[in-house]
Amino acid sequence: MGNEQYQQMIYKRILDNFENWEKQDSITEKDIYFFLHNLKGTAGSIGLDELSMIASDKIEKLKENSDKKWSKVEWKSYLSPFIEGINFYQKNINIQEIEEIVLKSQNNIPSEQEFILIIDNDIEFISYIKNILEKKGFSVIAANNGKRGLELIYDLKPTIVFVDIMLPDTSGFSIIKNLKNIKKDSMIVTVISSNDCRENRVRAYDMGALDFIPKPVDEELLISYINNRLSYKKELENSIIKDELTQIYNRKFMDSQIEKLIKQFERNRESFSIALADLDYFKKVNDTYGHLIGDEVLKGFANLVSSLKREQDFFCRYGGEEFVLIMPQTSVEEAYVLMERLRKAMEKKFFTANENRFQVTFSAGVVESATKNLHPKKILEEADQALYNAKQSGRNQIVMFDSLEEIVKKTIKIKIIVIDDVYIIRNLITNYFKSWEIGEKFNIDVMAFKDANSFLNSNWYSPDYKYIILLDIVMPKMDGIELLKIIRQDYSTSDVIVSMLTGRKEDEYVLQALENGANDYIVKPFDIKEVSNRILSLINRLFI
Ligand code: GH3
Ligand code: MG
Ligand code: MG
Repeated sequence: MGNEQYQQMIYKRILDNFENWEKQDSITEKDIYFFLHNLKGTAGSIGLDELSMIASDKIEKLKENSDKKWSKVEWKSYLSPFIEGINFYQKNINIQEIEEIVLKSQNNIPSEQEFILIIDNDIEFISYIKNILEKKGFSVIAANNGKRGLELIYDLKPTIVFVDIMLPDTSGFSIIKNLKNIKKDSMIVTVISSNDCRENRVRAYDMGALDFIPKPVDEELLISYINNRLSYKKELENSIIKDELTQIYNRKFMDSQIEKLIKQFERNRESFSIALADLDYFKKVNDTYGHLIGDEVLKGFANLVSSLKREQDFFCRYGGEEFVLIMPQTSVEEAYVLMERLRKAMEKKFFTANENRFQVTFSAGVVESATKNLHPKKILEEADQALYNAKQSGRNQIVMFDSLEEIVKKTIKIKIIVIDDVYIIRNLITNYFKSWEIGEKFNIDVMAFKDANSFLNSNWYSPDYKYIILLDIVMPKMDGIELLKIIRQDYSTSDVIVSMLTGRKEDEYVLQALENGANDYIVKPFDIKEVSNRILSLINRLFI
């Protein structure tokens, strides 16, 4: 999509903003400050340099937090250069032309590469950056407030996080502070902001942001920057064997160690066992006490196991709240006994958060090397299956892999639900996903509804399924945002992914959608292949 499209969006946004202010007797200085702040950041990024300059000139004289009232006459005169321009735009606007530009831009199908998260309260800026990056094949997810941003960081593990300083609910600094435990080689955290004064830069760097990119953002520069950081990150990853948070071995070391033991087994039948452990209801710990306390629990668990395991065993962080204990020269029965000891110790341990004491348990699957599982992937899969059984039968327990059970393959049942009032859209999506081939691990089912009520009355949910809901925003009676709120009251992202379908004209809705727990949004008219790529990558991140 060319700059022209974004320029039109900005004009429309300004127009809407003025129309809204027009309805009020007076507005506050804070409102004007926020308006100019966003304009300054976004306009410059998309070739409206002059507009950006006027905005930054005008903002100079205002206070960020002032509740001082401005009457209609006052703000209109202060913002007259914008008002004139907008009147001109209003007379010359050509909707059809805009729609053609959008159509043309939808023909690029990005391949899934790296997840990039943008946390910014300015929707024009988000869609501008999202579009640039998606054209280059990156997957981009957006959050327009800090709370949502943090959730997405921990759920989706983006490779790069771009965070603005001024957010509606918190400041970008507090997000960076929250991420201080995350290793630099697993996540790149960069500030993008128009508040690029010296003080902010110093503060961002001191707190651990990798870079500070001022708005307006130059497209070419941004792409070079991203490529540069990604290759740097790869190099780092390859040189490190310890997990920074927990100080135990990382996944890379784990892989090499399992390979080594497999080779030994092939040479002299020396068997070994591995245990895959996963903390129980860990999401709740994060939700109740915050991610920093969650991190403390991960460290505490790592320390506990490190102090109790035998010297010859290797304890590794597999990812997130999943760990692997590698036990050389150990049968599965011996491994079970050892893991039981760890389980009992963990069960007795108390953690503290402020005044609260709480406990966390774990579940684990154990498996022994054998001629038929002699591949790192295969043996981990078997451990995972045993772990799955441990979770299914109530958690806080150790389960040995049972080769008989392998026959009952663990398939993930996924239901894709389309809710849109336009028949053709429902029809196209249903047909497409009915014949979607994404491997035997998944079982895909499709359903379509024409409005919120028929969906809500349908008894759609069953715990056996994971859900992907493609939800139209503008629908008669109940709109998609209202429905989204209802869905999110009962179902979280780990069971139900919601992606909004939106027409170009509803950008303010996109903000609301993200705020209310949408995982993504797709702009109409969309390319269905692009949508299915995106969905596949969300499935892999959230459902596996
Ligand atoms: P279950 O008993 O089924 O395992 O439930 P659970 O809540 O532990 O499972 P789930 O896998 O849904 O949640 C794991 C959560 O762990 C999701 C993610 O937000 C959080 N998480 C992953 N990595 C980290 C991390 O490094 N630090 C913190 N604090 N949280 C993390
Ligand atoms: Mg888990
Ligand atoms: Mg867990």
